[in-house]
Amino acid sequence: MISAMAESKDAVAIPSFEEARHLVEQHAAEVCALGTETVDLLSAAGRVLAEPALADRDIPPFPRSTRDGYAIQSADLTKLPVTLEVIGEIRAGEKLQAIPSQVTACQAVSIMTGAPVPPGADAVVMVEYTSSKGEHVEVNRSVTVGENVVPRGAEAGQGAVLLERGQRLNEAGVALAASAGTSRLEVYRRPRVAVLTTGDEVVDVEAVPGPTQIRNSNSYSLAVQIQQAGGEPLLLAIAPDEPKLLRQLIEEGLRSDLLLVTGGVSMGRYDLVEQVLGEMHAEFFFTGAKIQPGRPVVFGRVQCRAGTSARRGTSVPRECTYFFGLPGNPVSTMVTFELFARPLLEGLSGMSPSKLRFLHARLKSEIQVKTGLTRFLPAVLSGEFENSEVELVRWQGSGDIAATARANCYVVNPPDRERIPAGEFVAVMMR
Ligand code: AMP
Ligand code: MG
Repeated sequence: MISAMAESKDAVAIPSFEEARHLVEQHAAEVCALGTETVDLLSAAGRVLAEPALADRDIPPFPRSTRDGYAIQSADLTKLPVTLEVIGEIRAGEKLQAIPSQVTACQAVSIMTGAPVPPGADAVVMVEYTSSKGEHVEVNRSVTVGENVVPRGAEAGQGAVLLERGQRLNEAGVALAASAGTSRLEVYRRPRVAVLTTGDEVVDVEAVPGPTQIRNSNSYSLAVQIQQAGGEPLLLAIAPDEPKLLRQLIEEGLRSDLLLVTGGVSMGRYDLVEQVLGEMHAEFFFTGAKIQPGRPVVFGRVQCRAGTSARRGTSVPRECTYFFGLPGNPVSTMVTFELFARPLLEGLSGMSPSKLRFLHARLKSEIQVKTGLTRFLPAVLSGEFENSEVELVRWQGSGDIAATARANCYVVNPPDRERIPAGEFVAVMMR
């Protein structure tokens, strides 16, 4: 159980980035996945397996030649060149009856990639190292035992677990399921994630904004991130900075599997999200983290009211709904989703949440910042192979969507580094 940090907002000290992330990971590991559904293979990419996929037979099902060449006995190739008698040919998919029953000393069988290696042969010599001489072949290169042959069952034995429950399917997973004849897969239902944008100044994308209004962009960046993380976004109406309507919309959002609120969590007089959630007896796990952008980020949960009809379509009833309050600045919203909301969404999807992985690249120009916060600074990673370089984009701070759209990663600046000189390797979070 994780309740030690579940206190009222004032009692909780602001955690470091690592502490906040760790807290979310703990909760993510404990949340229950939702119900399951069966999908066909072509719609299975990105879904999370609710049952393991097993090998229906040995893989490969026969000793497979990995080259075009000749199946031989490697002991025949000690003195080179050597001439062997060609006793047959085996194509990929060859009928069993057409495969020579035994290859003996001084014999060779012409063989194609993907064809079964006949009994008696212990290796395949590539065609490039041979010259055909009618009924015979001259071989100019030796091979070791087993060379260019994958033994039967070497990749997986019949009945072995090919894909674990909780694994998200990528193209290799889908290919593996296909190779085992699994055309329908049981997967977890996608979590429904409500997105609630707040702010009196925010208008819909179709609306003509007044001179002091801005269009809602956060709901759209979040919808993309939610979909990429395996969830189904549900965009709610824009909430005004007014407690009654805000509460109604928060209540509506809490009927989903996860609620993301953007805006209204800073220190301003009209930042009402925490107040309203507090009135609903929310448990707060943190109400800020030592990061930039995104310092005011909020994480907590609200108990579901008895008899709530919220869980339609969910076969596993849950007692609470988690929420994140993501700061409204567009880059803060994007970064805090990545750092905190994604692992919880993965947990709800039935996955064990993945760890954050950083690449390392050489810094092109010096960075100077104030210490105290872990910073995620929009940057461009360029170059290739061992010459990757990374450079911060010029930006006007965490409201600058244009600069962030030019970036392809974030440089992670640790809280104790005031200056990082050009040429040093820095951690990079890809996006
Ligand atoms: P807040 O976190 O509510 O104090 O908002 C911080 C900044 O983000 C303000 O400049 C807001 O106008 C802006 N902002 C809030 N919500 C959105 C949104 N949905 N789309 C774009 N900008 C927003
Ligand atoms: Mg606001």
